[in-house]
Amino acid sequence: MRNLIIALMLSVILPVAANAAGVENVASEGRKRVVVIDPGHGGPRPGKVMKDIAEEDYVLDVSKEVRKQLKTKLSDLEVYLTRSSDSAYHEKQSEDNKRRAEFANRKGADLYVSIHANAHEKTTVNGCEVWVLTLNERLMNQNQGQAARYADDGDFIDPKDIDRTSQGFMMAVARQLENEPFSRFFAEECCRNMSSYGLKNLGVKAGPVFTVLYYFEGPGVIVELAYLTNSEDYAYLSKKESKKEMATAISDAIVSYFKALDGNVAETPVESVAEDSVTEDDVLTAAGSEALTEGYTIQLISSTTEVDKNDYQFKSYKGRVSLYMGTGRYKYKYCYGCYASREAAQEELARARETFKDAYVVRFKDGNIVTK
Ligand SMILES: [Zn+2]
Repeated sequence: MRNLIIALMLSVILPVAANAAGVENVASEGRKRVVVIDPGHGGPRPGKVMKDIAEEDYVLDVSKEVRKQLKTKLSDLEVYLTRSSDSAYHEKQSEDNKRRAEFANRKGADLYVSIHANAHEKTTVNGCEVWVLTLNERLMNQNQGQAARYADDGDFIDPKDIDRTSQGFMMAVARQLENEPFSRFFAEECCRNMSSYGLKNLGVKAGPVFTVLYYFEGPGVIVELAYLTNSEDYAYLSKKESKKEMATAISDAIVSYFKALDGNVAETPVESVAEDSVTEDDVLTAAGSEALTEGYTIQLISSTTEVDKNDYQFKSYKGRVSLYMGTGRYKYKYCYGCYASREAAQEELARARETFKDAYVVRFKDGNIVTK
């Protein structure tokens, strides 16, 4: 019953929020809804590492599974991942988080879902929880200490460092007032779904000013799947099926969310999407494009001789590198990704340059690098 009331409330206040987010009338223009899934950590920051589970890898797998499942559940939804490999946007954590939010803003995300696994100094603490942003003075100060205990520096902004008179803060407050009911609706759905797999439901929480939520301009949450530091939760997370179950919990919550908003998202009949039609390659394009015979890619290195695509020098791109042929002496071009537009490739370029500083975007056609 409570859900129904929230759903009705959402449908009444939606036009206000839609206008404020600058996306008015988009549905009538046939714009697809957009979700950005953020697999937390990556690159220099693995997150919590507990025995054989590293948070960065675990949440990446769950995120890819969410994306895969959404393709079978909703037909007019675009899903982007902030990262599809072991990478980060910036060596500084606060900047990394901010850039993830900016990525979602650029994509025009209607919903932002950052996925993490939790940790606590007290190993008895267990359960799933979902965080939303609040800029309520009392709450953000009250919960700051709690967050500081287990979140890394740079995950959140210290309330002391916020200039309450700045335009940026005022805009963030205005956005937050509009977005919070939406974020909470999604968060509650998500908690309920996750706890249906036997995890204790710690519910929706708000308090610390998470960097990633502060800079994102729409409704967004941080999902904490379960506590790696708790033996029961750890046992659950290590189970073979748990990644799929957590992804189901999240993707179902995303479906409920969009259906509650406006009912404009069409469900895909499950039988119309063959399981194997969503390939790993497809997920790894990160640009939402299908496998392309022509488009844009990121050239990591070129060589005069052929080298193994799985060579150690490809580091975090190992196993995900494609070989294209070019002209000239350095004719073996080793590239990453496959994008329909130069712009989409350009968005991934900054990350590639953290490892390959000379990487750049090139055009390809039928296995060859072309200049036109
Ligand atoms: Zn985390």
